[in-house]
Amino acid sequence: MMNQGECPKCGKRLLHVRIETIVGQNNGNDDVRCLSYSCIHCNAVLQVQIDPRAKPRRRAVGVGVERAV
Ligand SMILES: [Zn+2]
Repeated sequence: MMNQGECPKCGKRLLHVRIETIVGQNNGNDDVRCLSYSCIHCNAVLQVQIDPRAKPRRRAVGVGVERAV
């Protein structure tokens, strides 16, 4: 492997990230499931994104699935 990316905090090569499920608070609306990516060495959070697998927080236009129970 020739990974060049390094953690901006501890400077170690970023060969692994820790992925955690976190909750994004959407300004008083429904909470949104998110993912955080953090350095396994120093736990600095490198990125946060909305979990692409999460159910849509609103009734999306044109999507028929609402609650698959
Ligand atoms: Zn680090």
